[in-house]
Amino acid sequence: MRKLVVNLCRLLLAVVFVFSGFVKAIDPLGTQYKIEDYLEALHLAGVVPDSLTLIFSVVLSAVEFCLGIFLLLAVRRKFTSFSVVSIMAVMTPLTLWLVIANPVSDCGCFGDAVVLTNMQTFLKNVLLLAAAIVVARWPKDMFRFVSDSTEWIAINYSALFILLTSLWCLYDLPLFDFRPYHVGADIKKGMEIPEGAPQPKFETTFILEKDGEKREFSIDDYPDSTWTFVDSRTVMTEEGYVPPVHDFSITTADGDDITDQVLGDTSYVFLLVAPYLEHADDSRLDLINEVCEYATQHGYPFLGLTSSGERAVARWRDMTGAEYDFCFTDGTTLKTVIRSNPGLVLLKNGTVIRKWSHNNLPVIEEAQAALPLEQMTIGSLPQDSVPRKLSQIMLWFVLPLVLLSFADRMWMWSKWVRNKEKKLSVITNIKKTKKRDMRKKIVAGNWKMNMNLQDGIALAKELNETLKADKPNCGVVICTPFIHLASIAQFLDQDIIGLGAENCADKEKGAFTGEVSAEMVKSTGAQYVILGHSERREYYKETPEILKEKVLLAQKNGLKVIFCIGESLAEREAGKQNEVVKAELEGSVFNLSEEDFRKIVIAYEPIWAIGTGKTATAEQAEEIHAYIRSIIAEKYGQAVADDTTILYGGSCKASNAPELFAKPDIDGGLIGGASLKCADFKGIIDAWKK
Ligand code: PEP
Repeated sequence: MRKLVVNLCRLLLAVVFVFSGFVKAIDPLGTQYKIEDYLEALHLAGVVPDSLTLIFSVVLSAVEFCLGIFLLLAVRRKFTSFSVVSIMAVMTPLTLWLVIANPVSDCGCFGDAVVLTNMQTFLKNVLLLAAAIVVARWPKDMFRFVSDSTEWIAINYSALFILLTSLWCLYDLPLFDFRPYHVGADIKKGMEIPEGAPQPKFETTFILEKDGEKREFSIDDYPDSTWTFVDSRTVMTEEGYVPPVHDFSITTADGDDITDQVLGDTSYVFLLVAPYLEHADDSRLDLINEVCEYATQHGYPFLGLTSSGERAVARWRDMTGAEYDFCFTDGTTLKTVIRSNPGLVLLKNGTVIRKWSHNNLPVIEEAQAALPLEQMTIGSLPQDSVPRKLSQIMLWFVLPLVLLSFADRMWMWSKWVRNKEKKLSVITNIKKTKKRDMRKKIVAGNWKMNMNLQDGIALAKELNETLKADKPNCGVVICTPFIHLASIAQFLDQDIIGLGAENCADKEKGAFTGEVSAEMVKSTGAQYVILGHSERREYYKETPEILKEKVLLAQKNGLKVIFCIGESLAEREAGKQNEVVKAELEGSVFNLSEEDFRKIVIAYEPIWAIGTGKTATAEQAEEIHAYIRSIIAEKYGQAVADDTTILYGGSCKASNAPELFAKPDIDGGLIGGASLKCADFKGIIDAWKK
């Protein structure tokens, strides 16, 4: 409920501020004149230079407009609501003063667009002040249309837009003209008093004297002739109807009033309006004189209107070579007729057909000079100018802001989704890492068919000593050729380094020349055996069925199986890696009981990464490790999956091991090439210490 009230107040303030800022901004000169009226009421006329009042007019309107937009979009909520409440806190007592002292008849808060009495303005401000207090009390309740990160665009764009609009209107004419002399206005009609309209009422008081006594009488109790008239006083007791145009008159230098003649002219009349000739801009005299020449050629009257005296007119004539006559009109009226000094007005039959500022005067091309105004565009009223201007504002201001807000909301929404996903994945990773910490971590070496007995013993000894001196943080296993096993088992500290074979037969015993059974491996003192390595699958055609037998026999003889799975490059490129590893597990180890499966260590080794120097990226490896764990969970349940050690193998080195081992589903590595040198192997083992 509170939020609703705050947002309604914010909307009310926003609409009023945007409207009042905009209508003032599009008429900077009008706003300046109003400011000067206030200064005059405060007896400060002439104290503040015109340039300052004009700058103040532009800045004031821009601030008001921007605050309205900021409220609308809920930009810098605290600052904006504080500024608005401060402005209203100053404006409300000021308008109360207007009500009491009546220094100006119209406060000018909505320019000429909406004219309010001082009382109406005061009541409006009381309402706005209340709304501003509500918004300033709970600024954060305003819901936003643009986020912190993009609000600078809205701020700068609004300020730039309104300042440029003001400057353009200053250069040309107000974008919208709310005065009774706007294009299309019939001035004669604006002067009419409709039939039956209330007339002003006056009351006269007479002061008369008799025998030295002075008394006041009204018309109703006027005394007899024994009283002598001294004085009378007339005051207006009731205002009558005041027509929109009530102070427009044109007087010639000889004092003749030619207003009706000018307004009644059924042809065209050009009026060069220069309220104060002393300050008139004379930079476009050439164009003014050209228009005058054109008017004279076609018999259209061309008159100068000013409030300045004969001397100023004479100076202007000298300076510009003006051949047109000057007539006199009240300066304030002329400033209302056109916001340009000088400006050009085209009348026909008392109706304003066109208006031009001195910066934007019509250019009559040579080819057109012979044409009468009826045949020229400037000779008729412009078409649909209000809808066109409104659509321009929509296009240049409203649309970009709406698009910005929309893009911003979309961005924030996607950010929210991304953050949520990130948080979820962080939580999942934390959970996974915790579970991983419970599992056995292993770094196992696969010597393959490398090193003779002496070299093998030397390497095993070196490793044994090294790891005794610097205990590893994980399980370490070396899987050697069969012939090394018995010798190495003699001295290897198997509490630190486990010993394993690289293969065993799929038969228990018998006439299988050259084969080594699981029982024989076990009898050497070894505890592990690697089965399903891709090289054996490929070169020795070990099928899933053969491997299934080997696994059973190895387990029967008490060997711990490191079971290898992994896809070829072609399979990865075809996106079949998940399918391949699943089939390999199903073909050889998913037949085991849960108890037996718990004894298996899985080694995921993408074939394309083995001995090639190409490593799967940590992300690629983690993705498939997580998949392998998920299918183990499907088969044996989550608890078994969480306890299963899954190693990564394939060009694993000391340099990439830390990144790989940091992944929550990677529990260590099966190392080929890098296990043949003690230092290299130790480097990988130490990745668990980082
Ligand atoms: C392997 O053959 O098990 C292996 C991972 O080899 P490498 O580390 O040399 O790629």
